[in-house]
This record gives sequence, structure tokens and C-alpha cells, in this order.
Amino acid sequence: MQVTKGIRLRLYPNQHQKEQLRQLFGNDRKVWNLMLAMANTRYQNNPASHFVGRCAMDALLPRLKEEMPYLKESDSTSFQIVDRQLSYAFKRLFKHQGGHPRFHSRKSTKQSYTGKSKLKILAKRYIKIPKLGCIKSSKTGRLQNVKVKEYTVCLMPSGHYVLSVVVQCEIQALPKTGKVVGLDLGSADLIIPSDATSDEDKFKKFTAKALKAKANLWQSRFSRRKYRATVSVRQFNHNHPELPQMELNDYSNWQRARQHKARLQEAIKNKRAGYLQRITTELVHKYDVIAIEDLRAKNMMKNHNLAGSIANASWRKVRDLLSYKCAWYGKQLVVVNPQNTSRICHNCGRLQEQFKGLSEHEWLAKRNWQCEVCGAKQDRDVNAAKNILSRGLEKLNH
Ligand SMILES: [Zn+2]
Repeated sequence: MQVTKGIRLRLYPNQHQKEQLRQLFGNDRKVWNLMLAMANTRYQNNPASHFVGRCAMDALLPRLKEEMPYLKESDSTSFQIVDRQLSYAFKRLFKHQGGHPRFHSRKSTKQSYTGKSKLKILAKRYIKIPKLGCIKSSKTGRLQNVKVKEYTVCLMPSGHYVLSVVVQCEIQALPKTGKVVGLDLGSADLIIPSDATSDEDKFKKFTAKALKAKANLWQSRFSRRKYRATVSVRQFNHNHPELPQMELNDYSNWQRARQHKARLQEAIKNKRAGYLQRITTELVHKYDVIAIEDLRAKNMMKNHNLAGSIANASWRKVRDLLSYKCAWYGKQLVVVNPQNTSRICHNCGRLQEQFKGLSEHEWLAKRNWQCEVCGAKQDRDVNAAKNILSRGLEKLNH
């Protein structure tokens, strides 16, 4: 099956390439801002005029390049992408789906450009990008035997350069294993499979305690340093009106903290994403049919704290990953109604009266219980996962 997917690599540009990239990010911003200004002026002059479409904007590009020769240093396909993005932004505006497109600022923390020219793999860790030439990267193995549709070079707030590539490739279905599973998305553990016999079979929540502690430390250093810099900039400018005005950016101390903080946050984000990818891949390898709860109907964690929102985000991510991976690898995902899955005994199918009237907190604390009808001892999450599996299989057979 032909599928479209994204692949990310790190880039390690040399000093010259870093300067080049700065120019290329700037060029894209320049074209965006020029086209946007033009569209705005056109509208001001004559509100009845038609919006200049993507092709008309593309047609203006050669003239711009004549006027501003430095634009020739860019991969020219990147300007077509800028035009496409701008016309898309306007289309959304006209449909009342988005606000008015804004000018892009040099000071925005994330800088990038997207092109659709060919990339050439030179070696295991070297890749050729139009206009930049040979550039050192992380392993290029995953770019073998794929068709590159688009590539984006991005400078992250952490100071890392990332190459994201949209590719088309052929995917083979995985061999069938004959196994089925129901998955409960829990609060103590992330995923509980219905065939779990011990705690080791459950998928833990992602934790990176040491990294998180460091990130929090640098976050608070960042805030403190930024505050101090703001104060001293104001004082300096007030006391020395005769000298050139200081700017916040002249203080490298807080900018260093910003980068350090961003690096740690990025590392956590990447690790979490990698973890979710790994466990969902493991699941589609292991099972032919996977039943999960419908998250829209599930009582998502109501507490609006950070832990709750991360759990909700992780569940959504797991569901999204499973749904496309099942489609890719010839497996089946069944989404079932989550109502009462954890309050019905899987052994006898009876709704438990014992849980009525429990507070949210008391209810979440009930890890193990005994059925009041048949006396079966149940692990709360595994029981729920088994109910989810039965509902999934029922749904499949109808
Ligand atoms: Zn029972």
C-alpha cells in the first residue's frame, strides 16, 4: 500500500550553512510579507477586487527575484510553497475559519522554510539539499526507497536544526498473529491490555523525571533572568537617554537560559513521542484486532491540571497512531462505547452496585475489587480492557 508519512532528521550545518539558512529563512519571510502587503494594499484600494490567487502570485516571483537578487539564493520551490500557504490562509479567512494572515517577524522563535525539490542522499549521514549542498545529518537510512514530496528545514527554539520530510512509500501488511486485544486507557498506567496477567504487561505512563526537573529549573531561571533583564533595560534607557537604547535581546544571560530550557523541553517532547510510537508499533505487530474506547464519549479526565491534560493528550495520540498504523499494516481497530466498561464484572456481566455514589477520588482509588454477584476478583483496568474486547468482537460480528 502507498502511504504518505513524515520523517524527521537532525541537521548539523556548518557555520557557512548556518548563515545561508538564516538568509533562506529570511527570504521566505520576505516573500510572505511582500505578498501579504500586496494583497492588503489591493484590498484597501479596491475592496471589490478579486483576491490574487496562488498562480498569480507565483507569476510575480521572477520580477521579485530581478529586484532582489538575494532571493535567488533560495530553493525557488520554497516561494511557491509560501504562495500556497498564503492563499490557503486567505481562503480560511474568507470561510471564516481563521483570522487575517499576519506579517512574519524575524524575532519569531521558530524559523523554517519548506521546499519541494529533490533531496539526494550522499552517505549514511550526509544529504544534499538544494542550494545548501552537502550537509551533515542524522542517519539517512529511512529516506531510502521513498519518494520525497516536500521537505522543511527548521531552526528550533533549542538551536537545533531539523529536517522534516513528507514522503510517499510502499508499506507491506504485517503477518497475522491470530491474536485479539482490548485496550483500556488508564490513569495510573497508560495502556492496559486485556491479556495482561501482571503489572509488567501494562504499558507505563511516560515519565522523564530527571529531565522534567531540569526543565523546570531552567524554566524558572529563564523567567527570573528575563524579568531582571527587562528591569535593567528600562533603568538603563531611563538613566541614559543620550546613549543608544538597550534592547532585551542585548542580554545574553536570559537568552542562554531560554535555549537551555527549550532544549530540555524538546528532549522531553521527542522522548514522549518516541515512546508512544514504539508501544503502538509493538501493539500492531502483536495483535490482529485491537479494540479501544471511543474517547469522545469517555469521561476524559475532568481535572484541568497538567498531569490530566498530558494524559488526555497521550490517549488521543495513542488512538491516532493506532488508527493509521492498523490501516497501514492490515490490522483492524474497533472503537467501542466506553460506558460502564470499568463498572461491569467481566465474569458475570453484572453492573456493580457497590460503586454507586463514590466520589471521583474514591472511584479512581479502587484498583482491585470483588464482584458482588459472582465473587470474581477483578483488577479494575484489566477487567475494563476485557469488557472493551468483548464489545469490540461483538461489534465486528454484527
Ligand atoms: Zn461477577
